[in-house]
Formats: sequence, C-alpha cells, structure tokens
Amino acid sequence: TIGTTVKLADGNEMPIEGLGVYKMTKEDELINSVKVAYDAGYRLFDTAQMYGNEAAVGKAIKDLNVNRDDIFVTTKVAEDNQGYDKVIASVEESLKKLQLDHVDLLLVHWPINTHFFKTWRAFEKLKEQGLTKSIGTSNYGMLHLQYLATKANEMPVVDQLEVHPYLSQQAMVTFNKENHIVTQAWAPLGRGRIFEDPIILKIGKAHDKSAAQVILRWHLQRGDSFIPKSVHPERIKQNADIYDFELSDEEMKLVDSINKNTRISQEPEMVY
Ligand code: NAD
Repeated sequence: TIGTTVKLADGNEMPIEGLGVYKMTKEDELINSVKVAYDAGYRLFDTAQMYGNEAAVGKAIKDLNVNRDDIFVTTKVAEDNQGYDKVIASVEESLKKLQLDHVDLLLVHWPINTHFFKTWRAFEKLKEQGLTKSIGTSNYGMLHLQYLATKANEMPVVDQLEVHPYLSQQAMVTFNKENHIVTQAWAPLGRGRIFEDPIILKIGKAHDKSAAQVILRWHLQRGDSFIPKSVHPERIKQNADIYDFELSDEEMKLVDSINKNTRISQEPEMVY
C-alpha cells in the first residue's frame, strides 16, 4: 500500500511514496492537498526552504491533528543558506515555520562548491541534536558523493534526483544502491512531459490505469522512492492508487527503453 516504508541506512523508516509541494503557493490549496493526500494514505510531505511554503505546510500538518510520528516531513536547505552557521540558523527558522521540533529528513538542495564540507558538518550536527532524524542530499551525482565521502562522518541516506522514464539515471540508481543510499525521484512524472508517450499509454490501457499510474508503478518496481505533486484531489488519489497492479518484466523493459537522458533542470555542476 501507499504506507509502505523503506529502511534507511541509519535505521530510520521512510515512506516510499510522498507528496511533493513545489509550486504550491496558495495556502488554502496546499492545506487542502495535504489533507486529501493524508486521507488517501500519504505520510511523506516534501517541501524546501526555496519553495517559500514551509509555513503553509506547518499549518497543513497542524490541521491534520495527528501524532508527529505518523507523518514524515522533508525539507531542503537552499543554496543561499549553505555554510555551517547559515545551515543551523536556517533550519531553526524552517522548524519554526513548520511548527515542528524536528524534521524527518533534511536534504542539501543542490551541490555547490562554496562551503561544501561545512554544510555537511552542520547537517551531521543537526542530526546529532535531533533536529532532523536523517540527513541526505539532492542533485548529487557520483562524483559529489565520492568527494563528500572523503570527509563525511556519516554519508547521506537519501539522494533526491530528477528521475523519470525520460531520465532513468540507471547508473546513478545502481551507484546509490551499492552505497546504501535510497534514490528518491523528483519530478517522478517528468512534470507531465511523458503522459502522451505511446508506450506508456499502451501499457496503461492494458491495465486500465492512467499514464501517471504506469510511471509511478515503474518507479515502485525499480526501487525508487518518489514524490509526485498535484493539487487536484482526484489526481492525488489516483497517484496513490498504484498498489493493485503489476508491470511485467517485459513492460518494465519497455518503459526502460524510452529513456532519452533529457533533463528538466540543468545538470548539477561539478565541485572540486
Ligand atoms: P511531477 O513529475 O511530480 O509532476 C507534477 C505535475 O504533473 C503536476 O503539476 C500536474 O500537472 C501533473 N500531474 C500530477 N499527477 C497527475 C495525474 N495523475 N494525472 C495528470 N497529471 C498529473 O513534478 P514536480 O512537481 O516537479 O516534482 C515533484 C516534487 O519533487 C516537487 O513537488 C518537489 O517536492 C520535488 N522537487 C525537488 C527538486 C529538487 O531539486 N530536489 C526539484 C523539483 C521538484
């Protein structure tokens, strides 16, 4: 079911599927989306300092009126807030906005040269202090992670990457698996660019499922965590309704075959 979790390398459990809230700028729309998602079984909510909606997420969570341990909240430190002191101060600010005493997962939003290791030291400190349960990265490739490993006391347990059938990132997914890092797919639906793909539509027809459902099922079966975004109640529910069918090996290979290595975002730069 949608509540299924994956065990992270630090021992914590993370729901495999979650709701992304990027570009949810209207407070009432965000609050409603979180409520609809929770009722549909979602437990993971993915925000970021950069989205400017942590306070609305805080209100939405408060409105749910559930046990803190019942939900899993991720936020990400913005590029401008990297550096030891800035990370600490900005996360304290994020927690205030979220009205929480800790987040479940804290991610470095984007790899940058400046303060590369100091940022990570602050992440390790925040975990030690209990302000976040787990620490991870986003948009880090192999070389970023290998560079981080030269000085890290603890490695990221999650790497959130742009992954969808047009950017399957197989080498990165394999690398992360070998290093006990869970790959979490952002823009798992390719932000809508894949819905007209004939192969996806054909597979959907065979299972009486939508293109979005086929794509999310592909993520599930290859072992990705994924955080689709929608503000439409029907779509939020639809995206959770992927646990009653299965893609065959042949169908999985067909979806693998439409990879184009095309990105929505720019390619993260190297650090040195
Ligand atoms: P997505 O792939 O989740 O696509 C979202 C879009 O697809 C929605 O705007 C909606 O129009 C459409 N959609 C969703 N479900 C649908 C359905 N069932 N039927 C038809 N259309 C549907 O793209 P995203 O929002 O960019 O990514 C998801 C989340 O990932 C974000 O909300 C955010 O939390 C996270 N994210 C992280 C980063 C990062 O750098 N770490 C970058 C971008 C996004």
